[in-house]
Amino acid sequence: MENCLFCKIIKGEIPSTKMYEDENMYIFKDIDPKAPKHYLCVPKSHFKLLSEMNDTQAEMLKACFKKIPELASILGLENGYRLVINQGDDAGQTVFHLHIHILAGKKMDWNPA
Ligand code: 5GP
Ligand code: ZN
Repeated sequence: MENCLFCKIIKGEIPSTKMYEDENMYIFKDIDPKAPKHYLCVPKSHFKLLSEMNDTQAEMLKACFKKIPELASILGLENGYRLVINQGDDAGQTVFHLHIHILAGKKMDWNPA
């Protein structure tokens, strides 16, 4: 997708701090961390919403969810972590390429308000 920030990051056109990459996903540090450890796991196929996901993209997302726990020691997730997928305006989605926030490194409150 042209003009998609995360497509450009995946292609290396915009720099990022890469933590992991394979054929399905690209994982990098969030530029504005909301926890001591804050990464973004981005499926390599562009789509905005779960409701728009095709079967191939669903397989990619599944691969992401299988891979993240396997990366626990690399990402420092041993004490637990939170995964967040913002969808649409009310959730505050700002980048319209579906991504999983990986948050870790402190005890987190449960306060989505
Ligand atoms: P959203 O609000 O769409 O769920 O999450 C977008 C995330 O992308 C935000 O946490 C924001 O800090 C991060 N972000 C925005 N621009 C950049 C960038 O240029 N580089 C990196 N590494 N993260 C970014
Ligand atoms: Zn994209």
